[in-house]
Amino acid sequence: MRWLFADQLGPHFLDSTSQRAVLVESTRVFARRTYHRRKAHLVLSAMRHRAAELGERAVLVQAATYREGLALAREQLTDAERAAGLSVCDPTSRAARRFVRGLDGVEVLPARGWAVTEAQFAHWAGRKGQPGQPRLLMEDFYREVRKHHHLLLEGDGSPLGGTWNYDHDNREPAPKAPTLEEAAGVAEPWWPHEDDVDAQVREDLDRMVRDEGVTFVGEDGPRRFAVTRREALANLRHFLTHRLEAFGPYEDAMLAQDRWMAHSLMSVPLNLGLVHPVEVAERAEAAHREQGVRLASAEGFVRQVVGWREYVWHLYWHLGEDFERANELGAREPLPRWFTDLDADGEVRAACLSDVLGTVREEGWAHHIPRLMVLGGYALARGWDPQELTAWFHTRFVDGYAWVMAANTIGMSQHADGGVVATKPYWSGGAYVDRMSDYCKRCPYDPKKRLGEDACPFTGGYWAFTARHEERLAANRRTSRAVSGLHRLPDADAVVAQEADRGSSAP
Ligand SMILES: Cc1cc2nc3c(=O)[nH]c(=O)nc-3n(C[C@H](O)[C@H](O)[C@H](O)COP(=O)(O)OP(=O)(O)OC[C@H]3O[C@@H](n4cnc5c(N)ncnc54)[C@H](O)[C@@H]3O)c2cc1C
Ligand code: SF4
Repeated sequence: MRWLFADQLGPHFLDSTSQRAVLVESTRVFARRTYHRRKAHLVLSAMRHRAAELGERAVLVQAATYREGLALAREQLTDAERAAGLSVCDPTSRAARRFVRGLDGVEVLPARGWAVTEAQFAHWAGRKGQPGQPRLLMEDFYREVRKHHHLLLEGDGSPLGGTWNYDHDNREPAPKAPTLEEAAGVAEPWWPHEDDVDAQVREDLDRMVRDEGVTFVGEDGPRRFAVTRREALANLRHFLTHRLEAFGPYEDAMLAQDRWMAHSLMSVPLNLGLVHPVEVAERAEAAHREQGVRLASAEGFVRQVVGWREYVWHLYWHLGEDFERANELGAREPLPRWFTDLDADGEVRAACLSDVLGTVREEGWAHHIPRLMVLGGYALARGWDPQELTAWFHTRFVDGYAWVMAANTIGMSQHADGGVVATKPYWSGGAYVDRMSDYCKRCPYDPKKRLGEDACPFTGGYWAFTARHEERLAANRRTSRAVSGLHRLPDADAVVAQEADRGSSAP
């Protein structure tokens, strides 16, 4: 009998097509934190769809806690099943791992659903990242994964097309057209059809709010993400055939009227465990080899799925719990209400922030660059508490899980680790947003202005951040130019004072 967590829903979490499974819906999980309503919907919908697929092989129970749920599930097992006990694949968070290890009669198996094992990662990482040793680099790790699974390689083991990394052919600025459909004929994403299970989930969420004191944030709406393996594969097929071609060039661009751009929308089904990342990468490779999709786009996508995603997972375990508490930049400002409630009152005038927060409010999702450069960049410049921000990303996004947070939020986005994950902080002024999006032309602020009523809060924030961390930035070869730039500004003190006045009020 296999106990399946809500992110272990693909066939690879069972040992055979006849194995039985226990699934526990714990309502206390939703009561503990304020999640986006769409995330709760997706998780419950995915579990119930999986239980329905398994039919009599599944025991699905609803309970306040996992412990109570397991006790209820045990009552429904046969004597032989009870005697044999449960097994579970190692779960994906520290808290869950501690919990399963403390239970009697539960055998914990190695984690599944990853391109390489934790032992393989540990072997690769060795002493990397220690003083005097080479840095931990995603690029090096990604090449190892490609070699291990023979992904996008020539027959002699060299990278397909002669190079490992096609970033220089990807990541173009925003197109001039308002949507990718107009710019490059990119098809709309695949959308799922809701069914009775979704309708029941909606009713149950309403009841939790009404009767059980649970609060959600964000708006409800038609389900956007795959919750079954069949849906995940349908979404993937549609993406590979109609959208992958444009993925690479527009990977980093943002358009106000095209929130999905050419992204895959695969993070939810991947994180629910419905599909295996290597299978996704292999299908992307086949799209290049068999359908002629440009190699740079296929490689860019494979890099995300078995490079970044896999690296972030392993770093969560490799860097340990202290990493999650890191706050090297001493950022202590609390997150303001307009941010935590996803600008529910429409207070934000800055076009980029207003649009991205609106997208998160409506969808529980935004693509990588709005997360990193708009939301994360703003928080970094204002000195917001990285642990609070991590909890915010975890709960506000439909694909948020504990393991994704450490490297992405603490490391990449907030530089709270002082440079373990990324060699420099990702902070930028309005010029970056202006180049990569069409937001600035519809904004009351001017991306070129750092001082005055219409000074862009990203541009002003860029200089305020540079001044606040001058010493650290001057000591880093990759950031010292920003400090030289600051010294050349005639009005640096006034800009710093202006941004201190602006503080965390809605821009
Ligand atoms: C501050 C911050 C927070 C993030 N939080 C999450 C999160 O909670 N959950 C999550 O899955 N991703 C997270 N990401 C990574 C990335 O933004 C999302 O995976 C992606 O935007 C999801 O949309 P998509 O499926 O269309 O991705 P695509 O752009 O189509 O990329 C393909 C896939 O690559 C994987 N991927 C790419 N980059 C990363 C990464 N850095 N970390 C993990 N997976 C990656 C995802 O599975 C994604 O589905 C975060 C990034 C940042 C900077
Ligand atoms: S001007 Fe500044 S605040 Fe306005 S959209 Fe551009 S970057 Fe964002």
